[in-house]
Formats: sequence, structure tokens, C-alpha cells
Amino acid sequence: MKIHPVSQMTVKNSMKALGRMLGWVQNKDYRLLNEHLLAMQEKEDLDGLLAEVSHCLSEMLNYRLFAFVIRDETGVDVWIDPTMFRDAFSRIVTEDLGLDPGMNIRFMGNIEEAVEQRSISRDDMEVRSFKESSFTAHLYLATGRRMLSHHNDILESLLAGLRVSLINHVRIRSLQGAVSEDALTGCYNRREFDRQLERHLAAVKRHGKDFALVFFDLDHFKAVNDTYGHLAGDAVLRNVAMEVRRKIRTGDLLCRYGGEEFALLLPETDGEKAADLAERLRIAIEGLQVDAGDGLKLQVTASFGVAEADAAMGSDNLVAEADTILYRAKNQGRNCVAF
Ligand code: GH3
Ligand code: MG
Ligand code: MG
Repeated sequence: MKIHPVSQMTVKNSMKALGRMLGWVQNKDYRLLNEHLLAMQEKEDLDGLLAEVSHCLSEMLNYRLFAFVIRDETGVDVWIDPTMFRDAFSRIVTEDLGLDPGMNIRFMGNIEEAVEQRSISRDDMEVRSFKESSFTAHLYLATGRRMLSHHNDILESLLAGLRVSLINHVRIRSLQGAVSEDALTGCYNRREFDRQLERHLAAVKRHGKDFALVFFDLDHFKAVNDTYGHLAGDAVLRNVAMEVRRKIRTGDLLCRYGGEEFALLLPETDGEKAADLAERLRIAIEGLQVDAGDGLKLQVTASFGVAEADAAMGSDNLVAEADTILYRAKNQGRNCVAF
């Protein structure tokens, strides 16, 4: 058999063909990038904006994970896709940003798809960050394919485009945040409670997900105010809220329902598990020593009512049920969990 040496011409031609092909791929990617950059400018909220970025990156880089983190004075928000990396990523971000382990990471975007959690390594990710006056942003990307040099260019352009839109969206959001948060405790307020409850109950109806609502109320709290003053009472409320936030999962929501009454929204949690959590929280609150100034340490207890949602329940029924059960706990002698 005769083997023909590859001629110079053949090598040149295939290089040219490869070059043309690469050029074509690059052109296509840049064209896509332009389309997405335009679409990003038209998004009305942060969720929509980040969904567009993820769409763009998924088309071009077929990523395994894309996450975007925004940190401002109110806390840390994360947009992540796919959600199966949510727990692993929470740990990575907590370490990367040096967050207090009890700090609540808020997840944006679709919260409905509950999937089995998978782990992922920080070493597999590209990270890009930028800093604005009122927030910092970090983009994390684990790609399914090798990053080509023009992919890096694309990522930089995308980030530059995102930065401009983000400044406006974050400004709007911080105005909205002031509307959804309780100023004393940093918990979600009643208005946000109503909104989130409707949202989660819709997921229960549509997908038959588990969902539990826990109400808890501090015991004989009037006496704390009457004995030690309103400021000491405020310190207790702040500390109880902080302790509970430390003990709940990312995705669980703590709301101040009113006065010294709190509500916990527990997605993907059945009544039994919610009651177990409530018992752990009851013990944690009982063990708190709240520093109320002047060397004064205060101890309080709380009573809990646990209600499990079913698909037929409206938000009013569920709230009424949790409230009724809470009052059963009060009648049973307080500092206990009723279910
Ligand atoms: P129970 O065990 O039955 O719940 O008794 P309680 O004393 O906790 O209940 P009650 O409803 O009689 O009193 C609630 C008290 O909570 C009265 C009110 O002054 C206090 N409170 C409500 N909001 C705040 C607040 O923002 N700061 C402080 N310091 N106290 C508050
Ligand atoms: Mg009370
Ligand atoms: Mg009360």
C-alpha cells in the first residue's frame, strides 16, 4: 500500500477550513451575544435580567452551573441554575464571601423545582466579580465544555452589559426591599408573608409539594416590656429572630407576623418534620441569654403551632389553622409545640 504524504496544500486548506469554521462559530456566538444584550436591556426585573443572562450562557457554553451573587447591605441574593446545586453552592458562597454561617442567603428565580441536591467543587468554576458603590456582584460558571478565548471575550462583554442594567435593578430592588422587610428584626414583614404564602401554596396545588406553616409567639412578653422596658423587649425580639434564622434552612422564610408573633414558611416540609424543627427552635429560644445592656441577661420562651398545608387549602384556612393550633400550645401551658 502506498502512503501519500500530506501535501502542504492539503494542510493549508484544512487550516483554512478550520479557521473559517471557527470564525463562523465565533460570529454566531457574537451575534447571539448581541441579541441577548438587547433583550437584557428590556427586562423589567432582576429575575428576568438574570434569566436572560443564564439563557445566553447556556446557549453558548452549555454550562453545568451558572450562579450570580449580589451582596448589598441587606444581605446576599443568589440566582442559580440548576437548583440541584443550591445547597452546595450556599456553602461555597458562605466561604468565598466570608459570611456568618447563620446568614440567610436569599434565592431569586424559580423556587418551585425541588430536586435532589448534588455537590459541586469550587475548583470547577470560573468566577468574575465587580464592585459598585452599594453592592458587589459575582458570577460563577462551571462550563460543560472547554472555554475558548472568544468565550472569555463574550463573558466579559456580557458582564459589562449586565453591570449597567444591574445598577438600575438593584436600586429599584432596594426600594422594594424596604417595603418587604421588618425594620426591627430584619425578618420579612406581614405584607411579604402574604405574598410568599400565596406563592408557595400555588406550588402545593400545582405540584402536590409538602408545605408547612409554623406560628410562634413569645410567652408572657408583655411582662418583659413591663419589667425591663421596651428597649430590652426590642433586643429580645431581634435576638430571637436572629437565632431562628440561624437554625432554619435556606429557602425557609421567617416573617414577623405582628408584635411578638412570628411565622415560618417551610417549603418541602411535612407536618412531622416541621414539628421537629419547631421543637428544636423552642429549645434554642429557651436557651438564649439575651444581652439587654447593663449586664442584664434575659431569657424567654415561645409557644409553637404547626400546620400542614394540603392542596385544598386557601391561605386564609392555613393561617387560621396555624393560629388555632398556636393557641392550643398557649393553653397547654406555653413553651411547647402543638401539632
Ligand atoms: P402570651 O404568652 O399569651 O403570648 O402573653 P404575652 O404577654 O406575650 O401576650 P400579649 O399579647 O398580652 O402581649 C404582647 C406584648 O408584646 C405586648 C407588647 O407590648 C409587646 N410587643 C409587641 N410588639 C413589640 C415590639 O415591637 N417591641 C417590644 N418591645 N414589645 C412589643
Ligand atoms: Mg405573646
Ligand atoms: Mg402575641
